[in-house]
Amino acid sequence: MTDVQRSIEILEALVGFDTTSHKANLPLIGWIESYLDRCGVAHERIPDRSGAKSNLWVTIGRPGTPGYILSGHTDVVPVDGQSWSSDPFRLTQRDGRLVGRGATDMKGFLACCLAAVPAMTARPLAQPIHLAISYDEEIGCVGVRDMIARLKTAPVKPAGCFVGEPTQMGVVVGHKGKRSIIVTVRGQTCHSSLAPQGVNAVEYAARLIVKIRDMAERLAREGPRDPLYDVPYTTGHTGVVNGGTALNIVPDSCWFEFEFRSIAADDIDALVDEVAAYAREELEPAMRAVSPQAGIAFEDKSGFPGLDTPEADGIVRLAKELAGTSRHAKVAYGTEAGLFSAAGIPSVVIGPGSIEQAHKADEFIAASELARCGAFLDKLMAQCCGASP
Ligand SMILES: [Zn+2]
Repeated sequence: MTDVQRSIEILEALVGFDTTSHKANLPLIGWIESYLDRCGVAHERIPDRSGAKSNLWVTIGRPGTPGYILSGHTDVVPVDGQSWSSDPFRLTQRDGRLVGRGATDMKGFLACCLAAVPAMTARPLAQPIHLAISYDEEIGCVGVRDMIARLKTAPVKPAGCFVGEPTQMGVVVGHKGKRSIIVTVRGQTCHSSLAPQGVNAVEYAARLIVKIRDMAERLAREGPRDPLYDVPYTTGHTGVVNGGTALNIVPDSCWFEFEFRSIAADDIDALVDEVAAYAREELEPAMRAVSPQAGIAFEDKSGFPGLDTPEADGIVRLAKELAGTSRHAKVAYGTEAGLFSAAGIPSVVIGPGSIEQAHKADEFIAASELARCGAFLDKLMAQCCGASP
């Protein structure tokens, strides 16, 4: 059986588990564990607090030496409201395309890694290869954090990490960081004919939203630039607003969600602080002059650090060598690579399939992409055996 056929068979099994982020991933983790057991490879769960989900940490080769991490998430985005031409949780082959939820984002990569495990165990790896298999990536890179926290205190830190999000096996050295915030504005209600006696939460929310918009325009106009991004500067926007019940009632509550997505040259925390300072210094004093209970609260919803691995870093050179390319890029979407990088593990994003197909109805990966990923992993194994790839 060729590597690609084995990858396809494993992908078929992985897609068969509905691991939409809000569901348990343990049936899928259990399947991977029994596969690894058959390969004679040890594995370790790093579970979430509910006990319904788990990361899986796997080491092949000598654990006491710095090796390389292959990182992938098990969860997938929902299929609700999407029009699929076949069962999304049953891998279907059409014209060299493998169709199924998660085929490209990113069970295809996991399938390639698992298909390569027998070859990894058969070779004398001088440097170990780790699999870091996570949950809840799609809702803000949540699950992998516990796994990374343990790496920070491990006696031997891995030499580098390849995060297998779909890049069509291109080498991605950067993505923006993100912070998203829920803002709750608490005002004071009254009949709208007495409007000055109330604190209109919708209007104060609107003033804060305009502030965020002004900041986004400032960043677009004069903020730092990184030409490797499609949008080469930091962005900010408000995506959801909810407030008010009827026109003749001054609304006492309004909430909204905003985000910043920053390039490495901007300090994302300083941007969020600027919004909070405006609320505290410009808006709240006027609100509290009418009602001492009025105020504006900020709560972090999700976020992840950006990735900005220097071009000259060893992991970038290695990824280019293994993938047979001299080029690199930065991407618009976030990944777990920012977290690995923030933990001091040099990281790049490289994986099979195209982000164009991710999150959509009839998501697919080309069988040829699985073959390219298999070739990359073969060369990584050679590298870890001490041979030049
Ligand atoms: Zn993904």
